[in-house]
Amino acid sequence: MRSQAGMKERRARNMEPAGIWENTDDEAAGSIAKRRNDEAKTMRAVVTGGAGFLGSHLCDYLLDHGWEVLSIDNLVTGTQANVRHLAEHPRFRMLQQDVTKFIDVPGPVDYVLHFASPASPVDYLKLPIQTLKVGSLGTLNTLGLALAKKAKYFLASTSECYGDPLVSPQPETYWGNVNPIGPRGVYDEAKRFAEAMVMAYHRAHGVDTHIVRIFNTYGPRMRLNDGRALPNFVHQALMGQPITVYGSGKQTRSFCYVSDLIEGIYRLMLSEEHEPTNIGNPQEITILEFAERVRALLGATTPIVFEPLPQDDPKQRCPDISKARRLLGWEPKVNLEDGLRLTLESFKKQFAEAQAR
Ligand code: UDP
Repeated sequence: MRSQAGMKERRARNMEPAGIWENTDDEAAGSIAKRRNDEAKTMRAVVTGGAGFLGSHLCDYLLDHGWEVLSIDNLVTGTQANVRHLAEHPRFRMLQQDVTKFIDVPGPVDYVLHFASPASPVDYLKLPIQTLKVGSLGTLNTLGLALAKKAKYFLASTSECYGDPLVSPQPETYWGNVNPIGPRGVYDEAKRFAEAMVMAYHRAHGVDTHIVRIFNTYGPRMRLNDGRALPNFVHQALMGQPITVYGSGKQTRSFCYVSDLIEGIYRLMLSEEHEPTNIGNPQEITILEFAERVRALLGATTPIVFEPLPQDDPKQRCPDISKARRLLGWEPKVNLEDGLRLTLESFKKQFAEAQAR
Protein backbone atom coordinates (compact mmCIF):
# COMPACT_ATOMS: atom_id res chain seq x y z
CA MET A 1 0.00 0.00 0.00
CA ARG A 2 1.34 3.43 -0.82
CA SER A 3 0.92 6.00 1.93
CA GLN A 4 -1.41 9.00 1.53
CA ALA A 5 1.47 11.29 2.47
CA GLY A 6 3.66 9.75 -0.25
CA MET A 7 0.88 10.12 -2.77
CA LYS A 8 0.38 13.78 -1.81
CA GLU A 9 4.06 14.42 -2.18
CA ARG A 10 4.16 12.80 -5.63
CA ARG A 11 1.12 14.84 -6.64
CA ALA A 12 2.78 18.00 -5.43
CA ARG A 13 5.62 17.12 -7.79
CA ASN A 14 3.01 16.45 -10.47
CA MET A 15 4.13 12.82 -10.74
CA GLU A 16 0.87 11.22 -9.76
CA PRO A 17 -2.38 11.20 -11.70
CA ALA A 18 -4.81 13.29 -9.74
CA GLY A 19 -7.98 15.25 -10.39
CA ILE A 20 -8.74 14.49 -14.01
CA TRP A 21 -6.74 11.25 -13.74
CA GLU A 22 -7.96 10.44 -10.20
CA ASN A 23 -8.31 6.78 -9.25
CA THR A 24 -11.95 6.16 -9.85
CA ASP A 25 -14.26 3.30 -9.07
CA ASP A 26 -16.60 2.15 -11.82
CA GLU A 27 -19.45 4.36 -10.73
CA ALA A 28 -17.28 7.45 -10.65
CA ALA A 29 -15.75 6.53 -14.00
CA GLY A 30 -19.28 6.15 -15.39
CA SER A 31 -20.30 9.55 -14.12
CA ILE A 32 -17.14 11.12 -15.54
CA ALA A 33 -17.88 9.49 -18.88
CA LYS A 34 -21.44 10.82 -18.77
CA ARG A 35 -20.28 14.30 -17.82
CA ARG A 36 -17.85 14.21 -20.72
CA ASN A 37 -20.68 13.44 -23.11
CA ASP A 38 -22.76 16.21 -21.61
CA GLU A 39 -20.07 18.83 -21.97
CA ALA A 40 -18.06 19.69 -25.05
CA LYS A 41 -15.71 16.73 -25.18
CA THR A 42 -12.16 17.23 -23.95
CA MET A 43 -9.87 14.65 -25.50
CA ARG A 44 -7.64 12.68 -23.11
CA ALA A 45 -4.28 11.41 -24.27
CA VAL A 46 -1.70 9.15 -22.68
CA VAL A 47 1.74 10.03 -24.07
CA THR A 48 4.55 7.61 -23.27
CA GLY A 49 7.97 9.22 -23.35
CA GLY A 50 6.31 12.53 -22.50
CA ALA A 51 9.48 13.82 -20.79
CA GLY A 52 11.60 13.18 -23.87
CA PHE A 53 12.57 15.55 -26.65
CA LEU A 54 9.68 14.79 -29.02
CA GLY A 55 7.24 13.56 -26.37
CA SER A 56 7.42 16.81 -24.42
CA HIS A 57 6.81 18.91 -27.55
CA LEU A 58 3.85 16.67 -28.35
CA CYS A 59 2.45 17.20 -24.82
CA ASP A 60 2.76 20.97 -25.31
CA TYR A 61 0.99 20.79 -28.65
CA LEU A 62 -1.89 18.68 -27.35
CA LEU A 63 -2.35 20.90 -24.29
CA ASP A 64 -2.38 23.98 -26.52
CA HIS A 65 -5.16 22.30 -28.51
CA GLY A 66 -7.27 21.74 -25.39
CA TRP A 67 -6.40 18.09 -24.64
CA GLU A 68 -5.85 16.54 -21.23
CA VAL A 69 -2.50 14.78 -21.16
CA LEU A 70 -1.02 12.10 -18.94
CA SER A 71 2.67 11.60 -19.64
CA ILE A 72 4.25 8.29 -18.69
CA ASP A 73 8.03 8.23 -18.64
CA ASN A 74 10.64 6.28 -16.70
CA LEU A 75 13.13 9.14 -17.22
CA VAL A 76 15.85 6.82 -18.53
CA THR A 77 16.62 9.26 -21.36
CA GLY A 78 13.88 11.84 -20.80
CA THR A 79 14.15 14.52 -18.15
CA GLN A 80 11.78 16.36 -15.82
CA ALA A 81 13.29 19.62 -17.07
CA ASN A 82 11.47 19.10 -20.40
CA VAL A 83 8.06 19.30 -18.70
CA ARG A 84 8.89 21.56 -15.75
CA HIS A 85 6.96 24.41 -17.39
CA LEU A 86 3.85 22.19 -17.27
CA ALA A 87 4.09 21.49 -13.53
CA GLU A 88 1.12 23.71 -12.70
CA HIS A 89 -0.86 23.03 -15.87
CA PRO A 90 -4.39 21.96 -14.88
CA ARG A 91 -4.70 19.48 -17.76
CA PHE A 92 -1.28 17.85 -17.45
CA ARG A 93 -0.06 15.05 -15.22
CA MET A 94 3.08 12.96 -15.25
CA LEU A 95 3.63 9.44 -14.04
CA GLN A 96 7.12 8.00 -13.61
CA GLN A 97 6.69 4.44 -14.82
CA ASP A 98 8.28 1.88 -17.10
CA VAL A 99 5.90 0.96 -19.93
CA THR A 100 7.64 -2.37 -20.48
CA LYS A 101 5.65 -3.47 -17.38
CA PHE A 102 1.86 -3.76 -17.40
CA ILE A 103 0.22 -0.33 -17.45
CA ASP A 104 -3.22 0.88 -16.56
CA VAL A 105 -4.55 4.34 -15.93
CA PRO A 106 -7.79 5.40 -14.24
CA GLY A 107 -10.74 6.73 -16.22
CA PRO A 108 -11.38 7.01 -19.91
CA VAL A 109 -8.67 7.54 -22.52
CA ASP A 110 -9.23 8.71 -26.09
CA TYR A 111 -5.72 8.35 -27.49
CA VAL A 112 -2.58 6.41 -26.57
CA LEU A 113 0.61 7.75 -28.17
CA HIS A 114 3.71 5.59 -27.75
CA PHE A 115 6.79 7.82 -27.93
CA ALA A 116 8.92 6.18 -25.24
CA SER A 117 12.30 4.89 -26.47
CA PRO A 118 15.96 5.80 -26.45
CA ALA A 119 16.35 7.35 -29.90
CA SER A 120 19.93 8.47 -30.38
CA PRO A 121 22.39 5.84 -31.59
CA VAL A 122 24.62 6.52 -28.57
CA ASP A 123 21.69 6.04 -26.17
CA TYR A 124 20.39 2.87 -27.72
CA LEU A 125 23.85 1.35 -27.93
CA LYS A 126 24.20 2.03 -24.19
CA LEU A 127 20.71 0.67 -23.50
CA PRO A 128 20.29 -2.18 -26.00
CA ILE A 129 17.96 -4.37 -23.95
CA GLN A 130 15.79 -1.50 -22.70
CA THR A 131 15.52 -0.31 -26.32
CA LEU A 132 14.37 -3.72 -27.51
CA LYS A 133 11.95 -4.00 -24.58
CA VAL A 134 10.32 -0.61 -24.97
CA GLY A 135 9.83 -1.19 -28.70
CA SER A 136 8.38 -4.67 -28.18
CA LEU A 137 6.85 -5.05 -24.69
CA GLY A 138 6.19 -1.30 -24.44
CA THR A 139 4.29 -1.40 -27.72
CA LEU A 140 2.35 -4.49 -26.63
CA ASN A 141 1.40 -2.90 -23.28
CA THR A 142 0.37 0.42 -24.80
CA LEU A 143 -1.67 -1.34 -27.48
CA GLY A 144 -3.32 -3.34 -24.69
CA LEU A 145 -4.20 -0.09 -22.94
CA ALA A 146 -5.67 1.35 -26.15
CA LEU A 147 -7.72 -1.83 -26.71
CA ALA A 148 -9.01 -1.86 -23.12
CA LYS A 149 -9.95 1.83 -23.25
CA LYS A 150 -11.32 1.71 -26.81
CA ALA A 151 -8.82 4.45 -27.55
CA LYS A 152 -7.03 5.34 -30.76
CA TYR A 153 -3.34 4.46 -30.97
CA PHE A 154 -0.30 6.19 -32.40
CA LEU A 155 3.18 4.71 -32.79
CA ALA A 156 6.31 6.84 -33.11
CA SER A 157 8.30 4.75 -35.56
CA THR A 158 11.41 5.75 -37.42
CA SER A 159 13.26 6.13 -40.69
CA GLU A 160 15.62 3.53 -39.16
CA CYS A 161 13.10 0.98 -40.46
CA TYR A 162 14.76 1.64 -43.84
CA GLY A 163 18.21 0.82 -42.39
CA ASP A 164 21.05 1.75 -44.75
CA PRO A 165 18.67 2.36 -47.68
CA LEU A 166 19.38 1.26 -51.22
CA VAL A 167 16.61 3.56 -52.47
CA SER A 168 16.61 7.32 -52.05
CA PRO A 169 14.55 9.27 -51.21
CA GLN A 170 12.77 6.60 -49.17
CA PRO A 171 9.05 6.08 -49.86
CA GLU A 172 6.91 4.19 -47.33
CA THR A 173 6.67 1.31 -49.81
CA TYR A 174 10.42 0.60 -49.50
CA TRP A 175 10.99 -2.40 -47.17
CA GLY A 176 14.44 -1.36 -46.06
CA ASN A 177 17.94 -2.73 -45.71
CA VAL A 178 18.47 -3.47 -42.02
CA ASN A 179 21.20 -5.53 -40.39
CA PRO A 180 19.17 -7.26 -37.67
CA ILE A 181 22.18 -8.29 -35.57
CA GLY A 182 24.31 -5.17 -35.95
CA PRO A 183 24.61 -2.56 -33.18
CA ARG A 184 21.74 -0.49 -34.58
CA GLY A 185 19.54 -3.59 -34.89
CA VAL A 186 18.26 -3.16 -31.32
CA TYR A 187 16.47 0.02 -32.33
CA ASP A 188 15.68 -0.77 -35.96
CA GLU A 189 14.26 -4.22 -35.29
CA ALA A 190 12.36 -3.11 -32.18
CA LYS A 191 10.61 -0.45 -34.27
CA ARG A 192 9.98 -2.85 -37.15
CA PHE A 193 8.47 -5.32 -34.68
CA ALA A 194 6.44 -2.47 -33.17
CA GLU A 195 5.02 -1.57 -36.58
CA ALA A 196 4.11 -5.24 -37.19
CA MET A 197 2.41 -5.42 -33.78
CA VAL A 198 0.43 -2.23 -34.40
CA MET A 199 -0.80 -3.50 -37.76
CA ALA A 200 -1.77 -6.81 -36.12
CA TYR A 201 -3.86 -5.01 -33.45
CA HIS A 202 -5.46 -2.96 -36.19
CA ARG A 203 -6.30 -6.00 -38.30
CA ALA A 204 -7.15 -8.49 -35.56
CA HIS A 205 -8.80 -6.20 -32.98
CA GLY A 206 -9.90 -3.27 -35.13
CA VAL A 207 -7.91 -0.74 -33.05
CA ASP A 208 -7.79 2.62 -34.84
CA THR A 209 -4.02 2.83 -35.22
CA HIS A 210 -1.55 5.23 -36.85
CA ILE A 211 2.19 4.96 -37.49
CA VAL A 212 4.61 7.78 -38.22
CA ARG A 213 8.12 7.15 -39.52
CA ILE A 214 10.11 10.02 -38.07
CA PHE A 215 13.23 11.23 -39.86
CA ASN A 216 16.05 13.16 -38.18
CA THR A 217 14.50 15.91 -36.10
CA TYR A 218 16.13 18.72 -34.15
CA GLY A 219 15.11 21.58 -31.92
CA PRO A 220 15.10 22.86 -28.37
CA ARG A 221 15.19 20.19 -25.60
CA MET A 222 17.54 17.83 -27.41
CA ARG A 223 20.11 16.76 -24.83
CA LEU A 224 23.52 18.32 -25.42
CA ASN A 225 25.07 14.99 -24.47
CA ASP A 226 22.79 12.65 -26.42
CA GLY A 227 25.57 11.86 -28.90
CA ARG A 228 23.70 12.86 -32.06
CA ALA A 229 25.41 14.93 -34.71
CA LEU A 230 23.88 18.33 -33.92
CA PRO A 231 24.28 18.27 -30.11
CA ASN A 232 27.80 16.86 -30.50
CA PHE A 233 28.85 19.58 -32.95
CA VAL A 234 27.37 22.33 -30.78
CA HIS A 235 28.86 20.98 -27.56
CA GLN A 236 32.27 20.59 -29.16
CA ALA A 237 32.16 24.10 -30.63
CA LEU A 238 31.09 25.64 -27.31
CA MET A 239 33.84 23.75 -25.48
CA GLY A 240 36.42 24.90 -28.02
CA GLN A 241 37.06 21.29 -29.01
CA PRO A 242 37.47 19.89 -32.54
CA ILE A 243 34.22 18.99 -34.31
CA THR A 244 34.09 15.25 -35.00
CA VAL A 245 32.76 14.19 -38.38
CA TYR A 246 32.49 10.42 -38.74
CA GLY A 247 33.68 8.79 -41.95
CA SER A 248 34.21 11.06 -44.93
CA GLY A 249 31.21 13.21 -43.96
CA LYS A 250 29.66 12.45 -47.36
CA GLN A 251 26.80 10.52 -45.77
CA THR A 252 23.56 12.51 -45.90
CA ARG A 253 20.74 13.28 -43.51
CA SER A 254 17.63 15.47 -43.79
CA PHE A 255 16.86 17.53 -40.69
CA CYS A 256 13.32 18.51 -39.73
CA TYR A 257 12.60 21.24 -37.20
CA VAL A 258 10.57 19.94 -34.27
CA SER A 259 7.51 22.22 -34.70
CA ASP A 260 7.08 20.99 -38.29
CA LEU A 261 7.32 17.38 -37.15
CA ILE A 262 4.74 17.79 -34.39
CA GLU A 263 2.31 19.52 -36.76
CA GLY A 264 2.65 16.58 -39.18
CA ILE A 265 2.12 14.11 -36.36
CA TYR A 266 -1.04 15.88 -35.20
CA ARG A 267 -2.49 15.81 -38.70
CA LEU A 268 -1.68 12.11 -39.00
CA MET A 269 -3.28 11.42 -35.59
CA LEU A 270 -6.54 12.90 -36.84
CA SER A 271 -6.39 11.21 -40.26
CA GLU A 272 -7.88 7.93 -41.43
CA GLU A 273 -4.49 6.56 -42.47
CA HIS A 274 -3.34 3.34 -40.80
CA GLU A 275 -0.20 2.45 -42.71
CA PRO A 276 3.17 4.05 -41.92
CA THR A 277 3.64 7.64 -43.08
CA ASN A 278 6.96 9.47 -43.41
CA ILE A 279 7.26 12.80 -41.66
CA GLY A 280 10.52 14.65 -42.16
CA ASN A 281 12.18 17.40 -44.11
CA PRO A 282 13.36 16.36 -47.58
CA GLN A 283 16.11 19.02 -47.64
CA GLU A 284 19.12 16.65 -47.78
CA ILE A 285 22.60 17.71 -46.66
CA THR A 286 25.93 15.94 -46.18
CA ILE A 287 27.12 15.65 -42.60
CA LEU A 288 30.30 17.54 -43.45
CA GLU A 289 28.31 20.46 -44.84
CA PHE A 290 26.04 20.30 -41.79
CA ALA A 291 29.05 20.49 -39.45
CA GLU A 292 30.36 23.49 -41.41
CA ARG A 293 26.97 25.26 -41.19
CA VAL A 294 26.77 24.74 -37.43
CA ARG A 295 30.33 25.90 -36.97
CA ALA A 296 29.76 29.04 -39.01
CA LEU A 297 26.50 29.88 -37.19
CA LEU A 298 28.29 29.58 -33.84
CA GLY A 299 31.24 31.57 -35.10
CA ALA A 300 33.47 28.71 -33.93
CA THR A 301 37.07 28.45 -35.06
CA THR A 302 37.81 24.89 -33.91
CA PRO A 303 38.83 22.48 -36.69
CA ILE A 304 36.74 19.67 -38.13
CA VAL A 305 38.40 16.29 -37.54
CA PHE A 306 37.47 12.98 -39.14
CA GLU A 307 36.81 9.87 -37.03
CA PRO A 308 35.82 6.33 -38.04
CA LEU A 309 32.29 5.81 -39.31
CA PRO A 310 30.22 3.72 -36.85
CA GLN A 311 29.12 0.29 -38.10
CA ASP A 312 26.01 0.27 -40.33
CA ASP A 313 25.79 4.08 -40.32
CA PRO A 314 23.30 4.82 -43.15
CA LYS A 315 24.95 6.43 -46.18
CA GLN A 316 21.90 8.42 -47.13
CA ARG A 317 18.63 9.36 -45.58
CA CYS A 318 15.96 11.50 -47.14
CA PRO A 319 12.19 11.15 -46.79
CA ASP A 320 9.85 10.93 -49.73
CA ILE A 321 6.99 12.97 -48.27
CA SER A 322 4.58 12.76 -51.23
CA LYS A 323 2.17 10.72 -49.12
CA ALA A 324 2.11 13.24 -46.23
CA ARG A 325 1.66 16.08 -48.73
CA ARG A 326 -1.24 14.31 -50.45
CA LEU A 327 -3.04 12.85 -47.41
CA LEU A 328 -2.36 15.45 -44.76
CA GLY A 329 -1.72 18.58 -46.79
CA TRP A 330 1.48 18.80 -44.76
CA GLU A 331 5.00 19.86 -45.58
CA PRO A 332 7.75 21.42 -43.46
CA LYS A 333 7.86 25.21 -43.21
CA VAL A 334 10.98 25.95 -41.16
CA ASN A 335 14.18 26.06 -43.20
CA LEU A 336 17.47 24.75 -41.80
CA GLU A 337 18.94 28.21 -41.22
CA ASP A 338 16.00 29.42 -39.08
CA GLY A 339 15.63 26.10 -37.26
CA LEU A 340 19.32 25.99 -36.42
CA ARG A 341 19.26 29.55 -35.05
CA LEU A 342 16.35 28.70 -32.73
CA THR A 343 18.01 25.49 -31.60
CA LEU A 344 21.44 26.97 -31.05
CA GLU A 345 19.95 29.59 -28.71
CA SER A 346 18.43 26.86 -26.55
CA PHE A 347 21.67 24.81 -26.60
CA LYS A 348 23.63 27.87 -25.45
CA LYS A 349 21.25 28.25 -22.49
CA GLN A 350 21.54 24.54 -21.66
CA PHE A 351 25.31 24.80 -21.88
CA ALA A 352 25.45 27.88 -19.60
CA GLU A 353 23.20 26.15 -17.02
CA ALA A 354 25.39 23.04 -17.06
CA GLN A 355 28.53 25.15 -16.65
CA ALA A 356 26.99 27.04 -13.73
CA ARG A 357 26.18 23.81 -11.85
N1 UDP B 1 27.93 11.99 -36.76
C1 UDP B 1 29.16 12.62 -36.92
N2 UDP B 1 29.75 13.14 -35.81
C2 UDP B 1 29.20 13.07 -34.56
C3 UDP B 1 27.94 12.43 -34.42
C4 UDP B 1 27.34 11.90 -35.55
O1 UDP B 1 29.70 12.71 -38.02
O2 UDP B 1 29.81 13.57 -33.62
C5 UDP B 1 27.30 11.44 -37.97
C6 UDP B 1 26.83 9.99 -37.84
O3 UDP B 1 27.87 9.09 -38.12
C7 UDP B 1 25.72 9.96 -38.86
C8 UDP B 1 25.14 11.37 -38.83
O4 UDP B 1 26.15 12.18 -38.23
O5 UDP B 1 26.25 9.70 -40.15
C9 UDP B 1 23.86 11.50 -38.04
O6 UDP B 1 24.07 10.86 -36.82
P1 UDP B 1 23.05 10.95 -35.61
O7 UDP B 1 23.67 10.23 -34.46
O8 UDP B 1 22.65 12.37 -35.39
O9 UDP B 1 21.72 10.20 -36.08
P2 UDP B 1 21.39 9.02 -37.10
O10 UDP B 1 20.83 9.70 -38.28
O11 UDP B 1 22.63 8.25 -37.44
O12 UDP B 1 20.40 8.19 -36.38
